[in-house]
Amino acid sequence: MTVDVVQRLREKGLRVTRQRKVIYSLLREIGGHHSVDEILGLLVERREDIHRQSVYNVVGDLQQVGLVMCADAGPGRALYEASDHWHHHFVCRVCQIVLDVPCIEGRKPCLEPPENVASVIDEAQVIFRGVCHGCAGAKVTDTPAASISTADC
Ligand SMILES: [Zn+2]
Ligand SMILES: [Zn+2]
Repeated sequence: MTVDVVQRLREKGLRVTRQRKVIYSLLREIGGHHSVDEILGLLVERREDIHRQSVYNVVGDLQQVGLVMCADAGPGRALYEASDHWHHHFVCRVCQIVLDVPCIEGRKPCLEPPENVASVIDEAQVIFRGVCHGCAGAKVTDTPAASISTADC
């Protein structure tokens, strides 16, 4: 696994540092979507001496080269995951679970804005909001909260 991680970083042209190795390995190992604070907590548990800002920098670097994706799961919740496969996300407004939603196009940007608002569109990330199957089964008061938001990370 470590060799693979080193290889992936090199393939993407990133200098291999201990912090990049550790954080990318961790995200791959645990899977799913995690905030910087969660990542930091896990690193501290593993006795890694690392600062919050360094975690931000590393996930930013990894995101830039396409090894990590950032999901905007709601106010202040930027979640990171090890994935090189572009996809969207669903966030349950009851339990806050974040689920992957496959992208039909599978490439960026999979949506074009209806108006000529910008010169370059890098990506369009759709956040589906609503109620997950689990919570729908457990009785929920129905207030419409579906919205589309763009990633802010
Ligand atoms: Zn739910
Ligand atoms: Zn995801």
